[in-house]
Amino acid sequence: MSTLVLQLPLETIQNLQQKYASFERKTPPHAHFQIKIDKLVVTAYLSGKVVLQGDGIEVFVSENQLSTTTTATPKAQSSSSTLPADFASWSVIGSDEVGTGSYFGPLTVACAYVSAENIAPLTKLGVTDSKNLTDTQIQKIVPQIKELVPYKLLTLWPEKYNTVQQSKNLNEMKALIHNQALNLLQQQLAPITPKAILIDEFCKPQTYFRYLQGQLTINKENTYFITKGESHHIAVAAASMIARDAFLNGLTQLSHESGYEILSGAGAAVDQLAAKILKNDGPEVLAKLAKLHFANTKKAYKLAGIAESY
Ligand code: MN
Repeated sequence: MSTLVLQLPLETIQNLQQKYASFERKTPPHAHFQIKIDKLVVTAYLSGKVVLQGDGIEVFVSENQLSTTTTATPKAQSSSSTLPADFASWSVIGSDEVGTGSYFGPLTVACAYVSAENIAPLTKLGVTDSKNLTDTQIQKIVPQIKELVPYKLLTLWPEKYNTVQQSKNLNEMKALIHNQALNLLQQQLAPITPKAILIDEFCKPQTYFRYLQGQLTINKENTYFITKGESHHIAVAAASMIARDAFLNGLTQLSHESGYEILSGAGAAVDQLAAKILKNDGPEVLAKLAKLHFANTKKAYKLAGIAESY
């Protein structure tokens, strides 16, 4: 019987699990899943190691465009920090934020603690990069994530955001909120301590820690920064989904409060809506709904044909 061992990124493993969900067998210890297709058994371990045994290995590998060279260079992804080889199987707090690219709505930051035992159950729930999921899928899965893992969620509403933004840049604001969420979650977890913290990288680590100077508690030890964090540990994927869900709820809440259907994003439709709000309700109302430092504000004033006052 032939065997092939691959080292695959978490994202690929999750895609395989979803694709072959109907072929799934009882999950062996320390594994994400095991599937059996005819005479082929594929076992994906929490370490990222994927073992293929039996007939049809070549077909499976080419059908799924799996890279067989990653065994030699498991860290071949384009990332700025290096994570330990088995990082994906550690007990980790992941942290991510949503809303920084949307004119309307809050900035939401979430962190979630995923212990090694909770990695497989979360994968089963369909936890993955929130960008690959529809809003409906996210809103369906997030309550189940919240039931399963400890998390902290912080929401910075536009009104407060606009005030803070006058003295701090966006990354500084993000750093402070991430740090606050991480501290709160660690207090809640005590005496359990995570093996590591993984922050979805939004600025260089040195810059992050410079922003935190003067803060009472700073988590420097065992803190990793990496772009596309959700593909390196499912805790970041869980955090990104929780943050996305909170952002969507934020838009709904602001819609109820304002009487407008508040849009996500920063495109032309957003300019039109902002102009309408300016005309009908004035700048004070817009300041409660939108991040005023975006270029959309200038465009909205122009569209509304009124002099800027912010
Ligand atoms: Mn992110």
